[in-house]
Amino acid sequence: MPNANVKKVLIVGGGIGGLSTAIALGKIGIETEIIELKQKWEVYGVGIFQPPNSLRALDEIGVADKCMELGYNFDGMAYCDSQGNQFAEPQAPKIDGYPGLNVISRRTLHDILFEEAKSVGTKFRMGTTVAAIYQEEDQAQVKLTEGSMVTADLVIGSDGQNSKVRDLMFGPIEQEYVGQAVWRYTLPRMENIKNSILYYGPNAKAGLVPMSEDEMYLLLTTSEPGNPRMPEDQLDQLLRDRLADFGGQVAEAREQIVDPNEVVYRPIFSFILPSPWYKGRVLLIGDASHCTAPHLGQGASLAIEDAVVLSELIQQGLSVPQLLSAFIDRRYERCCMLVENCHQLVKWEFLEWEGKLPEDANFAKFSYETLAKMNEAI
Ligand SMILES: Cc1cc2nc3c(=O)[nH]c(=O)nc-3n(C[C@H](O)[C@H](O)[C@H](O)COP(=O)(O)OP(=O)(O)OC[C@H]3O[C@@H](n4cnc5c(N)ncnc54)[C@H](O)[C@@H]3O)c2cc1C
Repeated sequence: MPNANVKKVLIVGGGIGGLSTAIALGKIGIETEIIELKQKWEVYGVGIFQPPNSLRALDEIGVADKCMELGYNFDGMAYCDSQGNQFAEPQAPKIDGYPGLNVISRRTLHDILFEEAKSVGTKFRMGTTVAAIYQEEDQAQVKLTEGSMVTADLVIGSDGQNSKVRDLMFGPIEQEYVGQAVWRYTLPRMENIKNSILYYGPNAKAGLVPMSEDEMYLLLTTSEPGNPRMPEDQLDQLLRDRLADFGGQVAEAREQIVDPNEVVYRPIFSFILPSPWYKGRVLLIGDASHCTAPHLGQGASLAIEDAVVLSELIQQGLSVPQLLSAFIDRRYERCCMLVENCHQLVKWEFLEWEGKLPEDANFAKFSYETLAKMNEAI
């Protein structure tokens, strides 16, 4: 046992952060149990970016190779205008031994993480959540909605953006809707889509992103003032309408958007919970405490890093208060920097769409500088 103070950990939420935590802790001999609100796993099918720092963290928990094998990796991104004329193709900042970017289907990633979590002995309870958390001096007692009680040395709230654990511990918080939404749609990979290509349109940004030998996905970031509720049965038409200004391969891909059920539409929120992200024996990780605009493909990367750092600190044999305090010291500034820089990219996109982008605002340079900072040791 690496730490006599932490023998059993209850993880609320079995998304990317929760599963990664279960793997990281299970591998060092800690008993873990995940409680997941959904009755059965439902993971939507588009892809997810895994920059080098994400792969490095996935390596720590033993699954990076599998992600690269089942995903699609490459070194640079291409930047084009709305008609597909390329104006930049910088090499992404790298970490030795990893590609500039790996992209993988979210479902495939979930399967990899779930199988690994099972293999290290994680227990799962589906279709339930936390009703109350009682903090005692040397343990936490967690009452589940179905009535049972679970005792744990540490409770991890990895239940995402609208975290119930966060509500119970800290009360409601304000989440900033940034005014944008992202539309995504999975398509067969076009033969010449071999790296991620971003297309800057007059009032939207599109992308074509390979995520396996056979599949790619289209993404579109749009301004959606007021966070409107989109009619689900018209999502395909609404996405096609918003792609009308794009030419080249985006226009070709647009013709294949025919099923409203396959459109994944997400409004974008951004917030950082003020430090500290813990109370007593309860720690929030992932989107529950730091939710970023997805402009650098880093939200899940941060959640996986959280899992790795937590495991490292537990192995130092610290007491629970010491390790939670050390966790915040390691994570807070890094997560704030990332969330703020992604928000800066959002603001620049709005300025660009209004024709008011300052001359010194350089998307590719700022993005790559931020990604290079994320490649620094965690
Ligand atoms: C449009 C878009 C694109 C993105 N692209 C990328 C990308 O390319 N790369 C990247 O790294 N990140 C990306 N992200 C961010 C990434 O998806 C999130 O940061 C990541 O999923 C956070 O992981 P998490 O485990 O904290 O939360 P989640 O993945 O949201 O998982 C939360 C889990 O908790 C469960 N849950 C919820 N409530 C409860 C409850 N009360 N009790 C029990 N269980 C509960 C949920 O069902 C879910 O299983 C993107 C986000 C968006 C919106």
